[in-house]
Amino acid sequence: METIIIVGGGAGGLELATRLGDTMGAGKRARILLVDRSPGHFWKPLLHTVASGKCDPQVTELSFTAQALDHDFEFLQGEVLCVDRAHQTITLTPRGGRQDDGVCRTLGYDKLVLALGAVTNFYSVPGAARHAMTLDSVADAEAFRRRFVDGCIRAGERKEQLNVVIVGGGATGVELAAELSNSARALADYRVHTLDPERDIRITVIERGDHLLPHLHPLQSQRAANHLRSLGIDVRTATAVAHVTDNAVIDTTGAAHRADLTLWAAGVEAPELCATLGLTLNHIRQIVVDSSLRAACDSRIYAFGDCASYVCPIKGAAPPRAQVAHQQAMFLADLLARRDDGPRPEFRYHDYGSLVSLGPQAAVGVLTGALTGKSIRVGGAAASVLYALMYQKHLLQLHGSLRMAAQTLVDWLRAKILPPVRLH
Ligand SMILES: Cc1cc2nc3c(=O)[nH]c(=O)nc-3n(C[C@H](O)[C@H](O)[C@H](O)COP(=O)(O)OP(=O)(O)OC[C@H]3O[C@@H](n4cnc5c(N)ncnc54)[C@H](O)[C@@H]3O)c2cc1C
Repeated sequence: METIIIVGGGAGGLELATRLGDTMGAGKRARILLVDRSPGHFWKPLLHTVASGKCDPQVTELSFTAQALDHDFEFLQGEVLCVDRAHQTITLTPRGGRQDDGVCRTLGYDKLVLALGAVTNFYSVPGAARHAMTLDSVADAEAFRRRFVDGCIRAGERKEQLNVVIVGGGATGVELAAELSNSARALADYRVHTLDPERDIRITVIERGDHLLPHLHPLQSQRAANHLRSLGIDVRTATAVAHVTDNAVIDTTGAAHRADLTLWAAGVEAPELCATLGLTLNHIRQIVVDSSLRAACDSRIYAFGDCASYVCPIKGAAPPRAQVAHQQAMFLADLLARRDDGPRPEFRYHDYGSLVSLGPQAAVGVLTGALTGKSIRVGGAAASVLYALMYQKHLLQLHGSLRMAAQTLVDWLRAKILPPVRLH
C-alpha cells in the first residue's frame, strides 16, 4: 500500500488529509499520514483574534488525533527536521517534541506533500527579529495577547500610555489594529482599573506603500484607513522602517515611533526547512512547483499553500492566502486519488476576491464572479458577514454541513454569553 505523508496540518494540509483519508484511507487504497509540530489545528487567518483576546484558541483548536480517527488517516505529532530525498524518508523530532529528549523518528514515504506554511519575513531590518513580535503561530498570538493585556492593566493603573506599533499595513496589520482597538474598549467596559482607551492606548500602523491594503482598490484602502482613524488608530503610510529597538521603531527619515509592543506583519517567506531540501526555490524560499503542484526536480514531492511558488500562466504568482491553499488542497486530493495514468490535470487558481475584517460588523474587500470574472467592491456589515463565511467554508471542508452548522451555533451562543474579550 502506498504511503502518502503530508507535512503541515494548516489551512491546506488538514483539508487535504481529511479528503484523502475519506477517499483513499477509508478504502485502504493508501496509508495517509499527517505530521504537524502541534497537537491541534487552528485556522491561521483568525490568529489576530487570538492576539487581541477575542478568541480563545483552546476552545477553537481542533485535535488532529480526533480528526484523524473520524476521517481514516493517521496523525503523528513532531517537527520535521530533514528530508532524505534519495531514500524517501523524513526525520522528525522525538515523541516528547525536543531534539535532546530521545531518539528522532524516521518515516518512509512514496509521496511527500509539503504544506509547511510561511514565517515572518523581517527583510533583514536591523533589530526587527530581536525586538518585534510576530503572528506566525498560536503561541506567538498568545504571547502578544498577554503583553497587550498586561500593558492595558499597567496603563490603567499607572496612567502610563501603552504604545503599540504594527509594522505592515496589509491584511494582518489592519485586522489586528482594528481588533486591538475594540479589545481595549472592551477591557475598559469591564473596568480594567481606570483604563481610558483613547488616552492610555496608542496604536500606530506603519506601511511602506502609499496605501494600506495594497492588493485592494485605492478607494477600499482609503475606506479602511478612514475606519482605522475613526477608531483612534494612527495610520502612517509611505513610511519605511529603518530599524527597531526595544522601545521604538525608527523610520528612514530618522523619526522614532515609541513602541512598548512592536508587531511585525510586513511580509512572509517559506520556512528554513525548504532551503535544506535541494529543490528549486524562489527569492522567498518557496518551493517552485509545476502545474500539478509537483516540485520542479522531484516528482515524488508535492508542495502547496504558502510554502510553494505556483505561477499561473494567466494570473501570475498565486498569493499566500488561505483561498489558494484551499483550492490547491482540493486539486491535490483529486490528483493523488486518481487511478488512471491519463494526462495529468493542471491546477488553475481562481481568484474569488479578498476580504479584510475591520472589527465587529465592518469589513472591506472585493468579490470576483466565478463565471464573469467581474469584480465588485464590498464593505460594511454585509462584507463582515461574507468574511465570517470564509471560516464556515473551512469548517465545511473539515466536518461536513451538519457539524459545521452545530459548531457555528455553539460559537454564536458562546459569543452571546461570554465577555467579548478574554480578561486575563
Ligand atoms: C493574522 C493572519 C490573517 C490572515 N488572514 C487571511 C485572510 O483573511 N484570508 C486569506 O486568504 N488568508 C489569510 N491569511 C493567510 C493564510 O492564513 C495562509 O495563506 C494560510 O494559512 C496558508 O495555509 P498553509 O496550509 O499553506 O499553511 P498554514 O496554515 O500556515 O499551516 C502550516 C502548518 O505546517 C506546520 N509546520 C510547519 N513547519 C513544520 C515542520 N517542520 N514540521 C511539522 N509541521 C510543520 C505548522 O505547525 C502549521 O500547522 C492570514 C494570515 C495571518 C497570519
